[in-house]
Amino acid sequence: MDDKVDDKVRRAGRLLTLLCLFLLALSAWADGVQCAVCGRTISGKYLTAGGRSFCSQACYDKTLPTCDICGRRLTGKFFTSEGRRFCSDACFNKTLPKCEICGVPLRKVMIIGGHTYCETHSKGPYCSHCRLPFAKGFELADGRKMCTVCNPRLIYDEDKAEPLYAAARNQVRAVTGMQSPTLPRLELVGLDRMPEGRRQLGEDFKIQRGMYERHVTTTTTKNLLGMKLSESKAVTEAVLILYALAPDEFVATAAHELTHDLLSEQFPAVAESAPDWVEEGVCQYVSALVCRRNAYTDMLNDIETSTLPDYGPGYRYFKHQCGDNNWPAVVDWMQKTDLSRLPKELGE
Ligand SMILES: [Zn+2]
Ligand SMILES: [Zn+2]
Ligand SMILES: [Zn+2]
Ligand SMILES: [Zn+2]
Ligand SMILES: [Zn+2]
Repeated sequence: MDDKVDDKVRRAGRLLTLLCLFLLALSAWADGVQCAVCGRTISGKYLTAGGRSFCSQACYDKTLPTCDICGRRLTGKFFTSEGRRFCSDACFNKTLPKCEICGVPLRKVMIIGGHTYCETHSKGPYCSHCRLPFAKGFELADGRKMCTVCNPRLIYDEDKAEPLYAAARNQVRAVTGMQSPTLPRLELVGLDRMPEGRRQLGEDFKIQRGMYERHVTTTTTKNLLGMKLSESKAVTEAVLILYALAPDEFVATAAHELTHDLLSEQFPAVAESAPDWVEEGVCQYVSALVCRRNAYTDMLNDIETSTLPDYGPGYRYFKHQCGDNNWPAVVDWMQKTDLSRLPKELGE
């Protein structure tokens, strides 16, 4: 009996021991720290940061922010800008705009014509054609400067100019239905041959691209008694166009100058006695028609927004009076308007 009791007690004791061991193990597991990253139970040394525990440096590093540019973990010092984090100056510099000439990252940006430059390169030299600063370019005989990007498409010689000049004449005929009987001689010239050359307009300047020249020479033949026998008139005409223009500039300019020619033949009153803004306005109007026809958007914009006295206000006067594309209305205006009553100058 005693043995049996003993045996029961021993068995219960053993069970209790096992239970205790089990509970002990359970509590040890429950007390054990888990890595916040990999979830492993940590035994021995471990790291804590921000109230969380990590089994290793590698696991801890995974919680660190990364550089927005190179993706490196930001362990030591790093800096932020506009909500972005960068490991180094080199990475931050990659977010900065760069000078289009020297490529230097810019904390201070100079914008010219929608392009980005450093302070040094923003000071020029400037290309006379695209008006942008350049690193590679050269100076022309007339003092204009050209960049090597623009230069290949510019017109320098008669061989390239003559076909464009003929095309401009065809374009003027197409938009006006008129053509003067003679074609003025074309001369490619430098800025030094243009009376207005470079005209300052406030901050900006404007280059004279073309000119129409007309000389009438009257030769009178008299007999020995001084009686007039005959009189003959010789007209010499020339269109001067600046060399180093792009094809669209060349054609738009030639169209303007050929309209001067047209006016002196077909509407002499306008050419000779109207205020300058009338003649320049009509010439710009025809040039604009040619630009629209050829989709010369830059040139058209140039005409429409010109601040040059006579040219700008004159063009906009006819655009307002006659509409965008109505040459017959311009002709009608020239035929019916009393030119002597027009203002000498046109404001806006
Ligand atoms: Zn871990
Ligand atoms: Zn970085
Ligand atoms: Zn630069
Ligand atoms: Zn250029
Ligand atoms: Zn003109």
